[in-house]
Order: sequence, then structure tokens, then C-alpha cells
Amino acid sequence: MRLDRFICKHTEHGHKRSRHLIAGGRVEVDNRVVTDPLCPVTPFSTVRLDDQLLQQQRAYYLMLNKPSGYLSATRDPQHATVLELLPKHLRTELHLAGRLDRATTGLLLLTNDGHWSRRITAPEHRIPKTYRVTTAERIHSDAEERFTQGIWLAREQVMTSAAQLERLTDNQCRLTIYEGRHHQVKRMFAAISNEVIALHRESMGDIQLDPQLPPGEYRSLTAVEQQSIA
Ligand code: URA
Repeated sequence: MRLDRFICKHTEHGHKRSRHLIAGGRVEVDNRVVTDPLCPVTPFSTVRLDDQLLQQQRAYYLMLNKPSGYLSATRDPQHATVLELLPKHLRTELHLAGRLDRATTGLLLLTNDGHWSRRITAPEHRIPKTYRVTTAERIHSDAEERFTQGIWLAREQVMTSAAQLERLTDNQCRLTIYEGRHHQVKRMFAAISNEVIALHRESMGDIQLDPQLPPGEYRSLTAVEQQSIA
């Protein structure tokens, strides 16, 4: 929302007076005087008029260690969803910043801040996502090269961008990808004639799944983790 409209909405001042107050340097957004009435304000911005706080919605940024068997959806008539792992008061407020398949485990981020989650999910931001992948067959010797060159995804008619594969064992690796297309890791391995039998997300950008967090548990992100998504 624009700052002038925000002032109108949260005070008794009309539109003209709100613009006047902003131009007069009486309004601060996130502790900075802002004189541009068009300055964008999110529900999580801290806005003050003459030092009086106008509105502040509590923002939630959580990481969840997703267990297998839970759907990355807000509701589903058949299956348990990851939202059911959270206390009731949070279930209606939060959405997922990126999904995992039902059997996939590991790092899932939840928030009520749509700007923040878009920075994670928008393809142009190229947030790296790292997975530990276990495959049915030995990982072929040319897998690194094939994934660096990109894999053709016929459904979307696109090449995946260069992904990094680090071998852990004959049939386990760590894979970093920069998009989040439907079943992307499974489809990349299918393209090199292998099958993913277990998939675990370890990190998104600089946010690592907390090793102290048991499956099914969640915790708030630290300020450093939350602000690492720029
Ligand atoms: N790629 C997949 O195939 N599945 C996931 O859950 C995540 C990435």
C-alpha cells in the first residue's frame, strides 16, 4: 500500500492532509523519515506519525522440519497438511514459502509476510535450494556434467539452470538447484535414468535446517536468518 493511503487509513486525516504531513517530514517508515507519499508500505512496516506508532502487525517467520507424509498445502480433505503441525492460532495466518512433495522431508519455511515469501519463491531471485538425494541406482559418472549443462523439462519447455551436484556415496548426493519447479529434482534424475527414493531439503539460501529441530517441530527464524532473504 502507498504511504499516503496508509496514513489515511490509520488516522483521521484525509488524503490531502496526509500528503502534507508526509511532505513535512512528520512520518517515519522503519525508523527513516520518508517524504515520498508513494513510498510502499507493507503490513510489517513500522510507521510513525509524530513519533506515534500507527500500526504494527506481528510478522511470523518459521522453519519447520517437515516429516514424510504431510502435504505442503494449507488444507486438504484427504491428507494431513504441514499446517496441522502448528498451533491452531497460526494455521489460518501462515502460508508456505515454497513447497515439498508429500514424501520429501526437511526445511520448509512459513510466514504471513507475502513480500518475504515472494522473494524466496520468485524465479528471478534464484534462491539456491539444497537437497540430499538418495537414488535407486548408482549415480552415473556424467551426472555432474548433465546437471551443469541443464536438463530439458518438456512440460514447461525450459532448461533447468546449472545445478551443482556433490557426490556423497554411490547413490547419494547433495544437489543445489535455483528454481523450484514441480517435482524438479525427481524429474532431473528421471532424465538421467535414475529414480529418487528419498529427498530431504537441507537449506534455502543461507537458511539451513536446524540440526536440533526434530521432524515435525518448528521454530522462529532468527533475525539474521530472516534478513538473509534480501
Ligand atoms: N524436487 C522434487 O522433486 N520434490 C520436492 O519435494 C522438492 C524438489
